Amino acid sequence: MEKKQFQAESKRLLEMMINSIYTQREIFLRELISNSSDAIDKIYYKALTDDSLVFDKDSYFIKITADKDNRILTIRDTGVGMTKEDLENNLGIIAKSGSLAFKKENEAKDGHNIIGQFGVGFYSAFMVADHIAVTSKALGSDTAYKWESDGADGYTIAPAEKDSIGTEIVLSIKANTEDDNYDEYLDEYRLKAIIKKYSDFIRYPIKMDITGKRLKEGSESEFEDYQEEQHVNSMVPIWRKNKSELTPEDYEKFYHEKHYGFDKPLKHIHVSADGAVVYQAILFIPENMPYDYYSKEYEKGLELYANGVLIMNKCADLLPDYFSFVKGMVDSESLSLNISREMLQHDRQLKLIAKNISSKIKGSLQSLLKDEREKYEQFYKSFGRQLKFGVYSDYGTHKELLQDLLMFSSSKEKQLVTLEEYVARMPEDQKYIYYASGESMERIDKLPQTELVTDKGYEILYFTDDIDEFAIKMIMTYKEKEFRSVSSGDLGIDVEDNANDSESDKKENQDLFDYMNGLLAGKVTSVKASKRLRKHPVCLSTDGDVTIEMEKILNAMPNNPNVKAEKVLEINVNHDVFTSLKDAFEKDKEKLNLYTALLYNQALLIEGLPLQDPVEFTNDICKIMV
Ligand code: ADP
Repeated sequence: MEKKQFQAESKRLLEMMINSIYTQREIFLRELISNSSDAIDKIYYKALTDDSLVFDKDSYFIKITADKDNRILTIRDTGVGMTKEDLENNLGIIAKSGSLAFKKENEAKDGHNIIGQFGVGFYSAFMVADHIAVTSKALGSDTAYKWESDGADGYTIAPAEKDSIGTEIVLSIKANTEDDNYDEYLDEYRLKAIIKKYSDFIRYPIKMDITGKRLKEGSESEFEDYQEEQHVNSMVPIWRKNKSELTPEDYEKFYHEKHYGFDKPLKHIHVSADGAVVYQAILFIPENMPYDYYSKEYEKGLELYANGVLIMNKCADLLPDYFSFVKGMVDSESLSLNISREMLQHDRQLKLIAKNISSKIKGSLQSLLKDEREKYEQFYKSFGRQLKFGVYSDYGTHKELLQDLLMFSSSKEKQLVTLEEYVARMPEDQKYIYYASGESMERIDKLPQTELVTDKGYEILYFTDDIDEFAIKMIMTYKEKEFRSVSSGDLGIDVEDNANDSESDKKENQDLFDYMNGLLAGKVTSVKASKRLRKHPVCLSTDGDVTIEMEKILNAMPNNPNVKAEKVLEINVNHDVFTSLKDAFEKDKEKLNLYTALLYNQALLIEGLPLQDPVEFTNDICKIMV
């Protein structure tokens, strides 16, 4: 029989897993049981929606058998089974492509991270078995097939005998070595404990033959072994249980069992709603960002059950985009099993549930912010950007809902603050909420534009994310306070005019600025005396709605809308440079032309904007050296 190779990437992953020093080998059983449960879900769902199939609840179960003598562990289910193609497609390829590349990037030392992150579930069995045989007969098919593999060097598939529909997985448990003991995976009591620990709430019976001892019939002293089939799991789904019966560990186990993430959930939300719409939900706020979170590949959604039957893996309509990081499930008696995806979208019940869930998530985040600040900040570092997108999207429709969840770093303590905190500690004379945009806090701190605001002792919010300014433009005002960029034309701060300047001086200055403006025509809208600069000679500010940061971001977009900020070149008239400008204006226009070009280019550099002609700029610098 021809041996087929695993795909190259799969092979490497598999090798990594087999040789991994993964400490929790026992989870392989959870993985296999979870697959079986999914397979029964599928046949159950089919039976409920297809009249030609009859579902007899008693004939659906998962059976675990351990044969110590032959070192064989068998997991059998009565699920939908797999066709030859399914076996090939599902068991011939491990994980999604790209996962290995991701693994390299993250330099995980063993298979540890891979197992959870990519749901390579089935293959975890190779941690305890050196040979695996999967015999399966699919619903609607007459022939069964057997898939066999010894691990990384490939697998075979051949026709096989099997009476009933479903799947049987036979694991040849590894021999013990000096360092590792595999006997525990053949021990009934140990296996029972593993099932209890990870798979208690699986909704189908998990059966095991447990060996007991009893007196031999007719004898008073002789004992014999006997086998008794037991139900190992309690079968009550966790979401139907009373919150008071559950511990944080129970929720955590459920999170892992469901592969919602490999991290620990930061917070869980357990909802039992029996108002206008009846549903139960368990939702999680993850601790870490999934590696593909901010990419197109990431798919949001919650598992959707109709009265205990899984009808959809990722129901996107249950989660708004701004809460797309939430993981979990919803079970509702009010939904029909037969509902199609298209109809689901317009279902009134589902809309009510979605709305309800959204407000629960918001409430939960708010209490996290209030009561567990550190955890909230951790959450915010991963998902804050998504909340800001939420504020910006749909023309600001969700800003009321989200604005109190936002945080920005601030100049005061270089820590995250909420808008509410910022406004609460604003001095009375402060008119606006000030912010400064830039690449990093360090760069923003050096911006000449911040001088006046900082001098006044006002706090500045650092906008270091692309989306920040756009989101704030949607909010416009918070608690009746407007937002103002430190580079905007009007900072709302009164600065006394230099009393020594006579009217004729001012007129003279204006002539100089007009002249410079003429030189910079098309580049700036005006040149003027700065009210904000203290120590620095020059900076750019903007008139109008578009700031320089926004210009940069918009112009970096693929379909570049070519938006330009209205730039103003501000000159510090108290700086020595200004004296030189005045001097040159009187005596040497050529020098003034040179100085103007230099100052303008310097201002561009400070803003992180590209120079139109860097060579000319360096040549200009040389001119003032000689
Ligand atoms: P995952 O469960 O994360 O998709 P697995 O490697 O565990 O990854 O399984 C791959 C696929 O093989 C499953 O998605 C399922 O389609 C199929 N499969 C695995 N076990 C069974 C089973 N017992 N019955 C039917 N199909 C199964």
